[in-house]
Amino acid sequence: MDSKERIAAALKVATDTKAFEMGQGVLGMAAEVYNRFFEGRKAVVVADINTWPAAGERVFANLKEAGVDVDCYIIDKKEFHAEWKYIEMVDKIVEGDYAAAKAIEEDTDHVEADAEQAFKPFDASNRVLVSVGSGVINDLCKLCSHHHAQSYLTFPTAASVDGYSSFGASISYQNSKQTFSCPAPVAIVADIDVIAAAPKQMTGAGYADLAAKIPAGAEWMIADFMGTEPIVPEAWHMLQDVLDSQLSNPEGVAAGEPQAIADLFEGLTLSGFAMQAARSSRPASCCDHLFSHILDMTHHRFNGKLQSHGDQVAIGTLTMCAVFDKFLTYDLTDIDVEACVAAWPTLEQEQQRALDIFREFPAPDLGYTQITQKYLGADVVRERLTALRSEWPALREKLAGQVYSFRKMQDLFKAAGSPYDPAQIGVTRQMLKDMFPKVQLMRYRFNLLDLSKMLGIYDELVESVFADGAAWDLNA
Ligand SMILES: [Zn+2]
Repeated sequence: MDSKERIAAALKVATDTKAFEMGQGVLGMAAEVYNRFFEGRKAVVVADINTWPAAGERVFANLKEAGVDVDCYIIDKKEFHAEWKYIEMVDKIVEGDYAAAKAIEEDTDHVEADAEQAFKPFDASNRVLVSVGSGVINDLCKLCSHHHAQSYLTFPTAASVDGYSSFGASISYQNSKQTFSCPAPVAIVADIDVIAAAPKQMTGAGYADLAAKIPAGAEWMIADFMGTEPIVPEAWHMLQDVLDSQLSNPEGVAAGEPQAIADLFEGLTLSGFAMQAARSSRPASCCDHLFSHILDMTHHRFNGKLQSHGDQVAIGTLTMCAVFDKFLTYDLTDIDVEACVAAWPTLEQEQQRALDIFREFPAPDLGYTQITQKYLGADVVRERLTALRSEWPALREKLAGQVYSFRKMQDLFKAAGSPYDPAQIGVTRQMLKDMFPKVQLMRYRFNLLDLSKMLGIYDELVESVFADGAAWDLNA
């Protein structure tokens, strides 16, 4: 299958997105695509001070020339993240109340409104959002469109994340990074000329966000084996069958070659479609993303700046590749299942452990709620570890065929211009090591660290990443 056929096949499985136009110069299709889905409705282009000159202005002009009743709202901030305050701002933009939106934008100590109260019935006099920007603007437009029972149109300006086409928006609300359920855009218009001209660092970040699907896929295999989250075949194949090939030209990505950027963007888009098909972010993320979520939730800054999603995910991805390197060295065909079961903590013990680990965290009960959801009883542990003992050679081979070694991934990141050492995002190796207990517990999804806890090899596994001569040698 070539790119066009792959996209056509993926659109059939994707539940929300009906059109995906990608190519050089496709910005000129703005009005045509808009009218395909929203003819007669009023529009508002949402951009920021960087994306307005990069593409917003041209999208706006194209819509206006075609007779669309269109406004624009330019977010006047050098730096903003996907925080709830901006959701309230964009909700006002949909309703055409730009003065109220500006007031929220400029409110420095904003008190978050109740997320449950944000939903409004459909009103045809509201404006259709036309998102022109990277991941944050798109996520804001995605959730706010859902709040108003309508869809939207997105013009990505960088191949920086896979969120353009994904189901759900990742927003910080009440000190916690949360994925809010909401449909992907009905149409995506990806102009490769615009995307290839984005700052190199954003493209490097996007490459890492795509590469994260390598260890995330391996962890999904583990969750599938455990029976907690079975693999959804159409979501799996759509992305994983082309992933190796779409990660194979990091030099082209770094050089901004149009074909390499188109391949990268296609991979990120297929990842989003896989999430639509699975109705979950499971196809796209696991522990590789959780390190990033901790950094977001603790407002981590480097040189005064918040670090981008993909840059943070790069470090989580490399770290998980290093964990897999060690994990695959074990021979689990001779594990002492009864000893593992005897050492297995009760739910109450795990809840207490989670409360202790998250005590100083901005969301102190996060670990408690998630472990309560994902805790498996001793009977399940016995049954699954017994199965693992006999099926390990086959599972090990599958995992080894999926995951990349730390060294391979690090070389790819160096070539693509993605971060390849935690110091590049202002994270020390000790900080990274200290995140592990939270990473294990902070999401209801079964992950490799959960399995290593059951097997009694968790400490060894974590230590191996930070040992002398290892990936993140603490003394290097
Ligand atoms: Zn991501």
